[in-house]
Amino acid sequence: MTDTSAMEIDVGTLAFSDHVPPPPRGVTWGERSALVAALVVYLGVLAASAWAVTRVLPDELSTTIAGHSVHVGNLRHRLFSNAVLVFLLLPGALWVEFMTVGWSRSSVRKFLLGRSPSVRTDMAVFVLGQAHLLDILGKLMLVGLSMVSGLWIRDWLTRTTGLAINPPDLPVPVLVVAYFFVYTFFDYWTHRLDHSPFFWPLHRYHHSAEEFCVITAGRVHPAAFTPIFLINIPMAILGAPADVMLYVNVVVIAVGFLIHSEIGSDWGWFGRWVIQSPVSHRLHHKLDMSYPTGNFAMAPIWDRLFGTWNAKADPTLAIGVERSYRHGYWFLADVFRDYWHFWKGVFTRRPIE
Ligand SMILES: [Zn+2]
Ligand SMILES: [Zn+2]
Repeated sequence: MTDTSAMEIDVGTLAFSDHVPPPPRGVTWGERSALVAALVVYLGVLAASAWAVTRVLPDELSTTIAGHSVHVGNLRHRLFSNAVLVFLLLPGALWVEFMTVGWSRSSVRKFLLGRSPSVRTDMAVFVLGQAHLLDILGKLMLVGLSMVSGLWIRDWLTRTTGLAINPPDLPVPVLVVAYFFVYTFFDYWTHRLDHSPFFWPLHRYHHSAEEFCVITAGRVHPAAFTPIFLINIPMAILGAPADVMLYVNVVVIAVGFLIHSEIGSDWGWFGRWVIQSPVSHRLHHKLDMSYPTGNFAMAPIWDRLFGTWNAKADPTLAIGVERSYRHGYWFLADVFRDYWHFWKGVFTRRPIE
């Protein structure tokens, strides 16, 4: 309205001009070939390292710490899940995104050069999550509730009622596809509950991201506990075998990375019916709340079936939430504020937006 405010806008634009990424120019054939060659070399080194580690690493480890003997079993299996995520799924998603959108809009560039406060939060949450430190915080915030085991409940049900649901005798790939859709069904309803007024403060943390980078998928509040009751327990009761669930998790994590990427595609019929595309998930993260939120499911079929599907595809749509977040590497202040908002909403029966 005044000259002063106009000047402030100019100064702001100038101040941030260093951080504005150059306009995307796509990926040339030369770069594409170099990227394919780099992937082949990387996969070769990864396969050799995996082979060497499995030969050297024992599966059981016993040691004594401060006079107490500590035994860790199933070591290879434990390492396998973390290693697949960090060394295979994450680089794979980064590679696909890079090949599709080019350097200027890639998450790799954001990690290395364009670390906005929102991206810094994603990086910090990812590192602490992989180090299992957020698990510990989650256990403390939920006073151990997150340790409820679906398998234990399944055993108890079998013992008390004689009821035991087991999967049909089908090949593993068929079961993986079937359980993926069962998983996404439970995930759909969990996600809808997360968007209800009382649970929103804990899920709001995921939506606070102001821009997508593939690891935004991991920005989850450590006390977000709805999946324990609405996904883990029903999946265990339905007898999802451990090896099948391992593959389902691999698919879920890979899709999670890709739908939070900068890939501006709706993936055609595949993205409209089978697996959610990045633009459909961007629409779920929309900042503009003047129309209802949709696209809750990783498999769009559930949104279509329950009337929450929205086909609008705008890769430039602004994302985030109204409430302000500090972001940055010191993200715990936001985590504790959102945790407090959750309990305050429950106890006063007045949910906080
Ligand atoms: Zn959501
Ligand atoms: Zn998301």
